This record gives sequence, C-alpha cells and structure tokens, in this order.
Amino acid sequence: MRKPLIAGNWKMHKTAGESAILTQHLEESAAKYKKEVEVVIAPPFTALHSVSTAIELDRSVLKLAAQDMFWEDEGAYTGEIAPRMLADLRVRYVLVGHSERREYFGETNEVVNLKVRSVFSHGMTPILCCGETLATREQGGTKAWISEQIHTALVGVSSDDVKHLVIAYEPIWAIGTGKTATPEMVEEVCAYIRSLVAEMFGEANAADARILYGGSVKAENAALFFAQDALDGALVGGASLKAEAFIPIITAAARA
Ligand code: PEP
Repeated sequence: MRKPLIAGNWKMHKTAGESAILTQHLEESAAKYKKEVEVVIAPPFTALHSVSTAIELDRSVLKLAAQDMFWEDEGAYTGEIAPRMLADLRVRYVLVGHSERREYFGETNEVVNLKVRSVFSHGMTPILCCGETLATREQGGTKAWISEQIHTALVGVSSDDVKHLVIAYEPIWAIGTGKTATPEMVEEVCAYIRSLVAEMFGEANAADARILYGGSVKAENAALFFAQDALDGALVGGASLKAEAFIPIITAAARA
C-alpha cells in the first residue's frame, strides 16, 4: 500500500521566521491525519534550519524537503548546497528537476540524473519532477517527452531505491497558471509513468513508487485529483504558502 504524500513547495517565499510560523500552523493537521497521509514541506534553503528545529522541538510528524541540491559531496562550487548539508538538517526529500530549474537554470535530464543518484546515495529521497510544455502536449508529444525525462533521470538507480522514489507529474502549462490538467489527463500520464518505471525496474518495484500530480492544485479541485487511482498525492506550490489553503488539501488526501 502506498501512503499518499502531499508536498508543499514554498519556492522563493518566506524568511526563516515566517517559515517556522507556517510550519507550526501545519503541525496539527499533519498530526491528525498522520496515519492517512504523509505531509512534506519544502522551504527555501535559508529556512531549512529554522523549520528543522521547529519540527524537532515540537516532535512534529511533518517531513522536511529541500527544493534542490548539488550532486557533489563537497568542493569549490560557490553558491551550491551539498547533500551532506541537507542530511545534517534532517532533510528527508529533495525536489529534483522542477520545471522552474529546468527552464530558468538550464537543468538537463543528465543533470537531473546526477542529482537523483546523489540524493539516494545520501539516504534521502528524490521527488523527481517531470512534465511537458503546452506546445509539446498540443503536438501530441507528451508521452515521448515524459519517457525521455524518466528514462534519463533514472539511469544507474537501483531497484531497491526505486521502491522509495517519488515522481511528480507537473505539466508546465499548469504550474502557477491557475490552469489545471483534467483528472483524466493526469490519470493517463501517471499510469504511463508507472508503466515506464515498471519497464525499467519491474512491476513489483514500480508498484511501490509514489506518483504525484502538481499544477495549480487547490482546496477546490484536490478531491477530484485524489479520486484518480494512479495518483498518490500532490506537489503543491501557491496553495501551500498559507495554512488555510494547504490544510484542506491535506484533509482531502486523507479522506480520499
Ligand atoms: C509547483 O511549484 O510545483 C506547483 C505545482 O505550483 P502551483 O501549485 O502553484 O501550480
């Protein structure tokens, strides 16, 4: 049985203090639904320490994610963050290959692969993001695009690691735009992603990986998505920045 996962990506929002306050506001709901749903929050790097401390002090069930990571252990890489630095702050998940990193910072599928392998080798779990542009979808290229992203991202990953993998299907045209994919579109692509993972690692290993949807998920539409069989939760951007917007999504996942 795969436990649904709801992850909040706070992107480049919130100071360390603001992040700790939001964390405290989410704790009650995360605790209330801890059997039904795993809740993960991804603050910016500068807030990881304060959020990690808030989680630890309050013995919260919330899990911490980073929004990105460099793949080398250490070295002369000015401005980058190493895996050990994250693991030291009790970071459990790392977003890898978010479309904003691919689009604005030139991350290729090969870079994404280096990061995925490094996250696993440091005992953390990648939340591997994939998704097509509107032009690709309109040209009928969605599956070929996703196939290339998933195949390259998972080169050299072990079958044991794949069991823990989280993949977020995030059609780029639906991120932060208010446009959502229909639940049927999401179901189709998420089932396809699982079939790709099964081709690479076998049905049994692929059956344990969790596949999320991301793209303008909010309180009003969350339940529609969570009713889809192929989905194991959501990666939420804008609606994760306020407790009153994020908590109903956690609740919808717990009740699905
Ligand atoms: C995201 O940042 O991964 C995301 C899905 O954002 P939003 O929910 O704002 O579309």
